[in-house]
Amino acid sequence: MKQATRILVTGAGGFIGHHLVNRLKAEGHWVRGVDVKYSEYQASAADEFEIRDLRKWDECLMATRGSIDEVYNLAADMGGIGYITAFHADIARNNTLINTHMLEAARQHHVQRFLFSSSACVYAQSKQKAADVAPLKEQDAFPAEPEPGYGWEKLYAEELCRYYWQDYKFETRIVRFHNVYGPLGTYDGGKEKAPAAICRKVVRAADGGEIEVWGDGQQTRSFMYVDDCVEGLIRIMASDHRDALNLGTEELVTIDQLVDLVSEVAGKRLTKQHNLKGPQGVRGRNSDNSLLRRVLGWEPSILLRQGLALTYPWIQQELQAANRIKVMEQVPAA
Ligand code: NAD
Repeated sequence: MKQATRILVTGAGGFIGHHLVNRLKAEGHWVRGVDVKYSEYQASAADEFEIRDLRKWDECLMATRGSIDEVYNLAADMGGIGYITAFHADIARNNTLINTHMLEAARQHHVQRFLFSSSACVYAQSKQKAADVAPLKEQDAFPAEPEPGYGWEKLYAEELCRYYWQDYKFETRIVRFHNVYGPLGTYDGGKEKAPAAICRKVVRAADGGEIEVWGDGQQTRSFMYVDDCVEGLIRIMASDHRDALNLGTEELVTIDQLVDLVSEVAGKRLTKQHNLKGPQGVRGRNSDNSLLRRVLGWEPSILLRQGLALTYPWIQQELQAANRIKVMEQVPAA
């Protein structure tokens, strides 16, 4: 939307939410950020930043008070593949509470538009069994067979958004992200995703050394740089498309290729130690952007190599600042 609006970003203390707040502020909007924690790496640009647990109904009512025009609902209990495969009950319960309460609170407060951040984890697992996977179109989420826990709750919340439009004419937008990465994202602690984890491991490995890679390295994914993600979010919010839309790139790479790209950016020659016991998720996953192109006349365009060249130095600098660069990553026994 061109006009300055009053916008609520939930999950504003997290990776994508923080970048989105920066962009919305740069465009002149009034922004309230809400999260259970403050942004870790940079102060938030939000006009108001409130610490609230959005699993609670009263907190959602407070978060949406005061003539909010648009809600970007990014708050979620989530992490990389290691995290989402280990905590099905917590993730499904926490996120179901956040999403159901946020939708209803926004409706009761007459919010004009509500964007729900879904995930490529909603796609049927049987359609992701090959590394050279056919790119996933939006209809491939049905018949439903999503990722346990995280995928099921995202698919359920998508469906809830559709019901809110059907029954209440409440304007909802549904975005299915495919692996977002970039600076100011979690890079350690267990919630980090593959690009950040690999950057961290490469920073800490000596040139000529080894790094651990989960799986056999032949599993495939596509990765989207965070600036493309934020651009896509704003465009989808402004569009009239109420059903789910992929937001990702179609640049499919193996995890080994991702490691090679990071090593190249770092100027290091490294040997990969494949840990076949490490979680690797579905075998292959790529975005089909046909519908996104038709709806927006736009799609993410930042190449993985370009995005990594911006992300790697930030993680390197973070580790240097924390004086943790000298500790080499352990290569566990097979
Ligand atoms: P993130 O973990 O950095 O941000 C999520 C934020 O939600 C965190 O800051 C967290 O503290 C907050 N949160 C969790 N529980 C909360 C609660 N009870 N109340 C208030 N805030 C709470 O993750 P992100 O990468 O910025 O992801 C944003 C959204 O995009 C999430 O909904 C996520 O599921 C979705 N998504 C992200 C990716 C990706 O690759 N990053 C991929 C698919 C979907």
